[in-house]
Amino acid sequence: MIVTRFAPSPTGYLHIGGLRTALYSYLYARKNGGKFLLRIEDTDLKRNSEEATVAIKEAFDWCGLDYDGEVTYQSKRFDIYKEYVKKLLEEGKAYKDYMSKEELDELRAQQEARKERPKYDGRYRDFTGVPPEGIDPVIRIKAPLTGEILIDDGIKGEVKFRAEDILDDFIIARSDGTPTYNFTVVIDDMLMGVTHVIRGDDHLSNTPKQIVLYDALGFKPPKFFHVAMINGEDGKKLSKRHGATDVMEYKRMGYLPEALLNFLVRLGWSHGDDEIFSMEDMLKYFDPHHINKSSSTYNAQKLEWLNAHYIKTLPYDRLAKDMLEFGVDFKAMPKGEILLNSLRERSKTLLEMSESAKTIINAPSVYDEKAFGKFITEQSLEILAKFKEILTYDLSAAGYEEITTKFLEENGLKLKDLAQALRVSLTGSSVSPSIFEVLEVLGSAEIKKRIENIIKYKETK
Ligand code: GLU
Repeated sequence: MIVTRFAPSPTGYLHIGGLRTALYSYLYARKNGGKFLLRIEDTDLKRNSEEATVAIKEAFDWCGLDYDGEVTYQSKRFDIYKEYVKKLLEEGKAYKDYMSKEELDELRAQQEARKERPKYDGRYRDFTGVPPEGIDPVIRIKAPLTGEILIDDGIKGEVKFRAEDILDDFIIARSDGTPTYNFTVVIDDMLMGVTHVIRGDDHLSNTPKQIVLYDALGFKPPKFFHVAMINGEDGKKLSKRHGATDVMEYKRMGYLPEALLNFLVRLGWSHGDDEIFSMEDMLKYFDPHHINKSSSTYNAQKLEWLNAHYIKTLPYDRLAKDMLEFGVDFKAMPKGEILLNSLRERSKTLLEMSESAKTIINAPSVYDEKAFGKFITEQSLEILAKFKEILTYDLSAAGYEEITTKFLEENGLKLKDLAQALRVSLTGSSVSPSIFEVLEVLGSAEIKKRIENIIKYKETK
């Protein structure tokens, strides 16, 4: 069975790069009837926080990425890590290093002077004497110091590391007994039965160390997929300078999770020329072996385009529910569905849609100065006053169109003589969706009231 996991360190919010590898891991497990696990790597008690963990789960919930079983917290597993440190010590695969801080500083200084890579010199590797007093030892793994470590990466292909270049007997437990990062990752991936690790290629340099640990533990490493980073449009690694990187910030900006996931799945993976991927499509086509080797570029317009697509196509109920968070309750309005359907055609984000909706729902308290100056003239007010008289019943958009056409004909007018002035009176500005849909949503009594308002307002000017 395929078992994947997402293993964030809770240091802040969930980054969209993290969501992308989580999505890849999720898809691969789900499409193969496997398991997708969530592990919170919270061993760094100074940098990790409860709020960050909550933020990660919240982002998962919003995106609909569900994980199997309970969340694993590394902070609750120190006893397990200790047990494995003990085991490796007993088997002679790890050892206690009693080097003092002064000795270590001295070694570093010498290596620096010789322009060598800083690395442990193995002085306690085969130590059998009496340990020096007053030193709590660190525990080091006996790593192979020559030869090659091979990674058969699912994306990058074969990656070779020379042990001499990257390895030394690295620390697996600090002098206070706490385990180190690479050690906990390996113990957990092993115990959780993880078969495929899909993660950012910023972790590639950790992988040879993890392979050394798997070997020492006598356990077959999982298959690794190291995904190249996301860059900004300037070619530099994506950061806040390029725009939002916090997943929940996208929610606040009015993006739909469907759009964000679709956007992220395509950043680094493709299936022919397809751009639109529903969750169903992703599950059907996604294959981590087809993730691109090279880094991908964040493209804000593409995300906007996808968002507009999902705003146009998702079911009314779903959008109406999401819009509640933007302060618009379409379902509480008699013509809510018509309004939403009209607005969705021209909205790139839910935030934008809520702003447009509010200009229609609430009678304008101010008018856009430019539009008012241009379209609200003595003449147009006269036309509006006349138009008001034909409004007796509430009609459909088509009904309003019909009476309006008749009205224009009878008065020898063109639509442009009325439409913009009407828009300004009803919404405060000259941009709105189809005027007849606005009329239907408002109904005759409200239209009349708003026309009367603008006439009064003009008199005070
Ligand atoms: N905790 C690591 C991180 O947040 C990920 C570890 C892994 O995926 O192996 O970068």
